[in-house]
Amino acid sequence: KLNPADARLLIVGLGATGYSAAQFLQATPIKFAVIDSRSNPPQIDSLREQMPDVPVFCGGFDQSAFDVATHLLISPGVSLNEKAIRRAVQTGVIVMSDIDLFACATDKPIIGITGSNGKSTVTTMLGDMGSAAGFKTAIGGNLGTPALDLLKQDADLYVLELSSFQLERTTALNASAATVLNVSADHLDRHDGMAGYAEEKQRIFRGDGVMILNADDAMVMAMQDSRRTCFTFSVQQTADFYLQRGEVDRIMQGDQALMNTTDLNLEGSHNIANALAALALGHAMGMDINAMCRALRKFKGLPHRMQKVADIQGVRWVNDSKATNIGACVAALNGYDRKVILIAGGDAKGADMTELAPVVQVKAKAVILMGKDASVIDQAINHSVPTHFAGSMKQAVNIAAGLAQAGDSVLLSPACASLDQYKSYADRGNQFTEAVLELI
Ligand code: ADP
Repeated sequence: KLNPADARLLIVGLGATGYSAAQFLQATPIKFAVIDSRSNPPQIDSLREQMPDVPVFCGGFDQSAFDVATHLLISPGVSLNEKAIRRAVQTGVIVMSDIDLFACATDKPIIGITGSNGKSTVTTMLGDMGSAAGFKTAIGGNLGTPALDLLKQDADLYVLELSSFQLERTTALNASAATVLNVSADHLDRHDGMAGYAEEKQRIFRGDGVMILNADDAMVMAMQDSRRTCFTFSVQQTADFYLQRGEVDRIMQGDQALMNTTDLNLEGSHNIANALAALALGHAMGMDINAMCRALRKFKGLPHRMQKVADIQGVRWVNDSKATNIGACVAALNGYDRKVILIAGGDAKGADMTELAPVVQVKAKAVILMGKDASVIDQAINHSVPTHFAGSMKQAVNIAAGLAQAGDSVLLSPACASLDQYKSYADRGNQFTEAVLELI
């Protein structure tokens, strides 16, 4: 589709993704330019140094740059609603992503992973499983290394974590196996409601590869294409890969028990769901089941996702700062069978928080709220448990320490983005950890 003779590609956004695309295109005959609305985008110095001949426009979206483009390669951080982009699309300019270039550039198998939550966890699990099963596995995309940079690793299997924004502008991934892990409200400030958000995620299935579906999520099951090979996973019912509850809870593949859940070093049943999804994806690629189980037993979870920080006088402190949407927070709370003091709040990104009310009522003994949308959450949970407000993380931790008794857990699982008060979810998690460790 990209004919180097007449294609003029404009890379929109010069972060890690945009820069990886520039490096890739530099080695091809395709003509391209770069534009960023920021006057000093992150990769500007490297670009000027490494590719002095590439035209760069900074400090705004100059319409003349869009007017000569035939294709726009748009970074995930840039909204398709930008006026210059909308105008270009109206005149027939083709929108694409770095993932489209990646898919064209390799003939090796690709595993695609999306969902509202669990993407990074499942992607990392699959990287470990692939290596254990003897595949030269490269992982990246939305997580860590941009997709195009992975090509330098000469892998024989690529595992890509893909966000809804990446998928929204991707036409041709054709993954050998792909999954939508779950769909819950997130980024509704940038997508066209829940239906629009689910539709973007469904694009990961374009092609004819194996579909891995969450049998516990109706929005995901509605994406099933009966003409394709599909494997299901579930923590609630029998499926191709499922959790069997009993005296010991077991991970099952059909009627074969693979391991006990106590063999896994993971908090919460949502992480069992992630392990099941990873097994199903690996199985679709022909990975040896014993090797996959070995990798899962060694998997320790990722930082800021249900990460145990400390046990202090019988109180467990858990950092789940990566819970940047309501689905992650609900999943975190559901994993508890004892009373939790929940620290939540931040930027709710337009999501409806009322779904928090029932689970908070059952699992939480108190809620400590902070950030921009503290009052939105307060209204949503509607006095179902005692609520406190904190101006800083340190204050939130101190309030929690005053409330907690031996046997309780204090959980930072904000259900919101962090950027109203912190540099990132990692900064928020680190501030929590620091404040907790000061209690010792
Ligand atoms: P993503 O890459 O999709 O953001 P992560 O693996 O980084 O996913 O986890 C993000 C947040 O979601 C964390 O708070 C984590 O505890 C929670 N989480 C992980 N897996 C799931 C799941 N399957 N369902 C709900 N929440 C999950």
